[in-house]
Amino acid sequence: THFGFASVRLDEKQGLVDDVFHKVARRYDLMNDLMSAGLHRAWKDALVSSLRPPRDRPFGHLDVAGGTGDIAFRVLEAGGPRTQVTVFDINGDMLAVGRERAGARFGRRIDFVQGNAEALPFPDKSFDAYTIAFGIRNVPRIEEALAEAHRVLKRGGRFLCLEFSHVDVPGLDAVYDAYSFNVIPALGRMVTGDAEPYRYLVESIRRFPTAEGFADMVRAAGFGRVTYRPMTGGVVALHSGWKI
Ligand code: SAM
Repeated sequence: THFGFASVRLDEKQGLVDDVFHKVARRYDLMNDLMSAGLHRAWKDALVSSLRPPRDRPFGHLDVAGGTGDIAFRVLEAGGPRTQVTVFDINGDMLAVGRERAGARFGRRIDFVQGNAEALPFPDKSFDAYTIAFGIRNVPRIEEALAEAHRVLKRGGRFLCLEFSHVDVPGLDAVYDAYSFNVIPALGRMVTGDAEPYRYLVESIRRFPTAEGFADMVRAAGFGRVTYRPMTGGVVALHSGWKI
């Protein structure tokens, strides 16, 4: 069977996405390590190195689709005592895992807020940086999420997005296809008992725009100096923009 995500309407998509992350929340971190062979750690480290949160002044950071906290923890570790991170996600199960993982180690420098990336519950110009890692492709109306990112950033604020992209290295593309369509759903079934969420994962990656196409969307939302960097042969791309 098949979710048939290709044909779902926008207002149905979010419900299906929520079911996926409700099902996998408890196994999410393990699956990330297994499926990316640990690479997701290096990709997330690259995002935070590119961000370089300041250690000597206040820094308000919003991590959207923050899930179980991977980006937030890295930003807090790299930043200073006045770095403050809000983990924002639509899914309470993912946030609950994040809260448990954070424990008490960051005190009041971290908080968790549930809501939709398309309608952020924050005033204009609230944050110094906005990140979204492996999240934007799950959002039904990407343009709205990007407009919201731009709205809540202060002038001079940084936008960074890490997302799966499109492999264009001859040879690697065939390996990546075989891996995506066979290994990923099989691994998903082994660990979570269900291959469907992982078929969705693969399908949503295929349907996401190319790195150049996504850069155009980031520009269209009003960001300046938009650049991107493919990593691991284009398996993922890191997009950067500034609210000027
Ligand atoms: N950023 C984390 C990471 O890199 O490990 C989690 C990424 S996980 C693949 C995608 C996350 O996006 C899930 O936690 C899901 O609940 C969240 N999400 C999906 N749709 C969303 C929306 N409309 N608004 C906010 N978060 C959303």
